[in-house]
Amino acid sequence: MTQTAVQPSTSQTTPSLQVWLNGQLVPQHEATVNVFDHGLLYGDGVFEGIRIYNGRIFKLASHVRRLIESADVIRLPIPYSAQQIEQATRDTVEANGLTNGYIRLVVTRGVATLGLHPFKGCEGANVFVIAATIRLYPAELYENGLEVITSSVTRNHPGALSPRIKSLNYLNNILAKIEAIDAGVLEAVMLNTQGFVAECTGDNIFIVRQSSGGPELVTPPLHAGILEGITRNAVIDLARQQGLAVVESDLTKHDLYIADEMFLTGTAAEVIPVTVMDKRSIGDGKPGAITRQLIDAFHALVGENAPED
Ligand code: PMP
Repeated sequence: MTQTAVQPSTSQTTPSLQVWLNGQLVPQHEATVNVFDHGLLYGDGVFEGIRIYNGRIFKLASHVRRLIESADVIRLPIPYSAQQIEQATRDTVEANGLTNGYIRLVVTRGVATLGLHPFKGCEGANVFVIAATIRLYPAELYENGLEVITSSVTRNHPGALSPRIKSLNYLNNILAKIEAIDAGVLEAVMLNTQGFVAECTGDNIFIVRQSSGGPELVTPPLHAGILEGITRNAVIDLARQQGLAVVESDLTKHDLYIADEMFLTGTAAEVIPVTVMDKRSIGDGKPGAITRQLIDAFHALVGENAPED
């Protein structure tokens, strides 16, 4: 399988990006933060990744709400209201003339003294918004499915660092991602300290299985130690609108191996089928009918004639 990472691309394709930094749009080369910023020194900060589809920013209010909640939990005061952050995001997208793309919203602790202390000498948060383009997983993977492995890296225990905080410290996920790359695949399933399925390094996980009432969609609950994905929530809503049962339940690796279908959701990946896990075929080894149905529903949700959020 090809090693094409899903990542925003900036430098080659759009050399003169306008970046929103602390209230002003500035050229990319002027958009810098101080080396004493605790976002850099300690990963002390929070962020969001957001999509622009057909000139509309997908679930902007939900992303800004999650950003503010993450910041609240780490006691990081953001010097802008939700409305101001939303406006800054819209302004950045407009300044860069983007109708489709990817936005990175970042809030760092800001410049402080060299010690860990997040408040001492702190000059206040740095807030910036980057609007760029994104490289997708190859289309072929949406047709034929993604291969994943189970990572030996345990997902952070919520009592240590809650995965619900979308923090700038992604090392837990990066270590699992390295394992995936070493294994020649693009994603890894991470288990929690109890051995239950949590999430992938940058995506939430769903399976389809049979229940007495027909097929049901199952996804790990928030208490499994996951990010409350905005795509996850959108897919849950879409599935329910289509009359599908959706259950949030603890899952084991065993449940994934014997699932009829499996797929991942995330802002960058959207909805992508998984057909191989730990070298085992999931279901019949092809993207399942319900996965395809949900991919179509998701495309309709973000498509040109989509309803407003
Ligand atoms: N889990 C993790 C660890 C992530 O980084 C992401 C991407 N933000 C997701 C899940 C999916 O969340 P969302 O649908 O909000 O992008």
